[in-house]
Amino acid sequence: REIVVVGGGAAGLKAASRARRRDEEAEITVIEKGEYPSLGRCGLPYYVEGFVHDISNLMETLSGDVRDEEYFKKVKNINVLTKTEALSIDRKRKAVKISRNGRDDELNYDYLVLATGAKPVRLSVKGVDADGIFSLTSAEDALKITEMWMNESIESAVIIGGGLIGLETAEALERLDIDVTIVELKNQLLWNSFDFEMAELVRKCIIREGVKVLTSTTVQEFITEDGKVKAVRVNEKILPAELVIISIGVEPRTELAESAGLELTEKGAIKVNEYLQTSDPFIYAGGDCVENINLLTGKHVYTPLGSTANKHGRIIGDNITGGKSKWRGVLCTSIFRVFNADAGRTGLTEKQAREAGFDPVIAISPGPDRAHYYPGFKPIRLKLIADRRTRKVLGAQAFGLGVIDKRIDVIAMAIHRGATVDDLAEVDLAYAPPFSAALDHVIHAGNIIKNKLDGLLNGITPVELKRRLDAGEDLYLLDVRSQKEFEARRIEGYEVHNIPLSELRNRLDELPKDKEIVTICAIGTRSYEAARLLMNKGFEKVRFLDGALATWV
Ligand code: FAD
Repeated sequence: REIVVVGGGAAGLKAASRARRRDEEAEITVIEKGEYPSLGRCGLPYYVEGFVHDISNLMETLSGDVRDEEYFKKVKNINVLTKTEALSIDRKRKAVKISRNGRDDELNYDYLVLATGAKPVRLSVKGVDADGIFSLTSAEDALKITEMWMNESIESAVIIGGGLIGLETAEALERLDIDVTIVELKNQLLWNSFDFEMAELVRKCIIREGVKVLTSTTVQEFITEDGKVKAVRVNEKILPAELVIISIGVEPRTELAESAGLELTEKGAIKVNEYLQTSDPFIYAGGDCVENINLLTGKHVYTPLGSTANKHGRIIGDNITGGKSKWRGVLCTSIFRVFNADAGRTGLTEKQAREAGFDPVIAISPGPDRAHYYPGFKPIRLKLIADRRTRKVLGAQAFGLGVIDKRIDVIAMAIHRGATVDDLAEVDLAYAPPFSAALDHVIHAGNIIKNKLDGLLNGITPVELKRRLDAGEDLYLLDVRSQKEFEARRIEGYEVHNIPLSELRNRLDELPKDKEIVTICAIGTRSYEAARLLMNKGFEKVRFLDGALATWV
């Protein structure tokens, strides 16, 4: 059996390696047009920052072997041809035309795998081709940025796009003492993956570290001098920049598939079935060049992630060696670190859930990541989203200095298995003070939503509260923390009344019966108590501020 793989990245090499493990006799060739096969692209920002010292570290195995051509030949008997480009596919003859060392050649296949990855979305504005403008998606980009930093003085950089890669790159450059500004078209960072109030936490965090963030801002042109970028014009303002990173997303690289007449999806990815087989049964495709099914909506989504590309590779490796493995789809689970804080998400955001026709109900659980009396705890905020009708968990987002990954992963698994908030509330999670509270955030958030669904609690999100207050609605904001806490920090710009929880029972006559009352505290525990007290005492319009002051926008 002859197997040819185009693309020596995560999906391609995983497919080749899996195929080898299942079939010792197959002849397997991987074609890679770049110089660096098996590059851990996700580590590029850490290389730019200097945290990872050598680009070859991003190609190493745990035991320190560099996964180059020789490694693949010796260890796996896979022929990896670097600096070799696949030019076209002759599907009738089952042959791939390649260009290597300036010479054209041809490889025959029984099965062909397209793992051609993605390419950066181009920004069509004046001056975009000037020197000093990059996208950080390849080893070559990372090397050029590093070289520029070492040889030229870079005082200011502009990053266009406030997504995951833009944020990681912002941190890398800020740590190199460059003055960094992120320019984002939408009114928030992480527009595709986080709800506003959770993205605001990320924004505040990076601003504290010195990064400037301009949202609702459009790039108008790059101002250049002698072919080099000098500044970026945005919303009629000039931002000086000797370095610009464009990170407005990537799109599937499909030229090869398209010219071979393979079917593409509406959004332009290579069309594959559940076996990751293209419209030609002898050609498979995976990784960033294909779309996935969103397991919650059943619709196609484009989620170019290394985690998914590796799973695709494994499935393809099975199916080109006689297996029948199926790929079901994704929850768009992702995580990243900015400075000392972590942000992660899974499933649908509240906004996406609404757009997909669900009736979302949410909980935000702020608090320490372990028992509050255990030294060294760090704060996190977890937002949980569920469907009011079915009570099924739809998504989660988390942010904080503390441990968030296990919370996101537990919820990803819950969604994967179709769990409800009732399941979450009773799941048997590990507990000891160094790891979590007795009722972990996951369980706590499940309980908040249960309370809401069972009529024990009405929430109001920070975004909704702000919108209604700004629209002039007369809501009674009741902060139930101590006077000392209230004086130190409170919601600014609106009239807020302070009655500490310990006094509330005796001061109920100070509260209006006809107005909507919103209870507020630091992390939601006291405001929940207050809301229940008021509801039990016959106040009819009581709301509790979701996420409390810890998530106030
Ligand atoms: P790639 O890894 O891009 O490999 C495709 C390969 O195909 C390329 O090497 C290309 O040169 C080659 N190729 C294309 N056309 C041809 C041709 N005609 N002939 C020969 N070779 C060809 N994902 C996460 O899950 N977590 C993260 O934290 C994360 N961080 C990231 C940070 C950065 C800065 C970047 C850029 C990406 C990050 N990703 C992350 C995404 C992840 O890197 C990609 O999803 C993953 O690399 C996709 O793997 P792939 O095999 O589909 O494509």
